[in-house]
Amino acid sequence: MRMASWQWGGRDHVGTISSDGREATPLAVADASRGVLPLIEALARGDTLPHASGARLPVDVITLRAPLPRPLRSLFCVGRNYRAHAAELATTVFRDTMPAEDPWPIVFGKLGECVVGPHDVVRLPLSSVSTQIDYESELAVVIGHGGRDIARSRAMDHVFGYTIVNDVTARDVQMRHQQWDLGKSFDTFCPMGPWIVTGDELDGGATRVRGWVNGALRQDGSTRDLIHDIPTLIETCSRGITLHPGDVIATGTPAGVGMGLKPPQWLKRGDVVRIEIDRIGVIENQFE
Ligand code: MG
Repeated sequence: MRMASWQWGGRDHVGTISSDGREATPLAVADASRGVLPLIEALARGDTLPHASGARLPVDVITLRAPLPRPLRSLFCVGRNYRAHAAELATTVFRDTMPAEDPWPIVFGKLGECVVGPHDVVRLPLSSVSTQIDYESELAVVIGHGGRDIARSRAMDHVFGYTIVNDVTARDVQMRHQQWDLGKSFDTFCPMGPWIVTGDELDGGATRVRGWVNGALRQDGSTRDLIHDIPTLIETCSRGITLHPGDVIATGTPAGVGMGLKPPQWLKRGDVVRIEIDRIGVIENQFE
């Protein structure tokens, strides 16, 4: 199932998208402004899916929002989780902070308030704030049933589904503050969508993640190459911390970010970043 949030007729709606991605069916959800989140919470409580609240519409006529326009709290994000990406950073400013093979994933927070829709504009900051804006194509896991101290062996039982995020990053700010959160959390720096594909249709373990800048393919990886796989990430993030329905874990980005190019190439006004993940869909955002 594909669960989405959209605007149509001046109102927010939540519902399902047909498997061909062409039709949207609104569901009777009381507070559609929160996107798919109330639905995830209800299903985690054992409620059944609400009934349809209107006619099917072509996806072409609606405006997709992020499936989780305002996540419950900060997103859990994982750094350097593909070997080829770790390798491309080994000659950058990251070189002094890179252990050979860390048994623990790097995890940082990205403020939930920076989430925007799958086709929304991403606003570049003032040049006095940052001149090194970069993209990161990522598969994101959405938690269904919450829990704490979730064992790796049971972790997949806690997955609601998967979506796409662009973990947009101000590299100079990321590096300046010891912690990455500020450089990862500028307003609009987390395009998300186009919808959530539920875990019964996709397990996230071997799906292709690609990213383009202005039509040129920059990133082409598979989640098969994750250093720390999805069960490990859920186990790690839930150690001593209760995960809630709707929490998001962004699993890291494959090789091919702008910082890894020689010389580095930063995003500029008018650039368009497109991210496609097989069996989920596409997000595409212009930077202004
Ligand atoms: Mg990232």
